[in-house]
Amino acid sequence: MAYDSDNIFAKILRGEAPAFKVFEDEYSLAFMDVMPQVPGHTLVIPKDPTEDIFNADPVILSHTMATVQTVAAAVKQAFEVPGIMLAQLNGPAAGQTVFHLHFHILPRTDGIDLQMHARGMADFAELEAHAERIRAAIT
Ligand code: 5GP
Repeated sequence: MAYDSDNIFAKILRGEAPAFKVFEDEYSLAFMDVMPQVPGHTLVIPKDPTEDIFNADPVILSHTMATVQTVAAAVKQAFEVPGIMLAQLNGPAAGQTVFHLHFHILPRTDGIDLQMHARGMADFAELEAHAERIRAAIT
């Protein structure tokens, strides 16, 4: 499948759609998932127009993973959780719904299950408060 430059993450990268951003550098952007599976659910994407892991330039992928590491540490600290789960889906059969490569950062705590994937929309004021907690843990 060819990369569709009208996907929602491409629009966020171009500033055509809003996002609660937590971190940005030359290669990547991190922002809150608008339908979080758990409070603090954050996404990291490369700025490169890449559909999935198979099409990713390995150098850009390594820069993106460095951002995943930085943001995952900040999410862990900001949400005071004992565990962080990373998820990355490739293709509809794997559950991918947005076709721009992205990594899910999911705070995990014993006894608290994840909500359904890509379902209920979060309260925007709460998302901004969560983004601010993560930004504060990065700087
Ligand atoms: P996938 O299913 O492709 O692995 O994950 C896509 C993720 O993007 C889902 O967790 C979904 O909640 C999230 N998502 C979908 N639309 C938007 C949006 O407009 N803004 C943000 N921030 N996240 C979105």
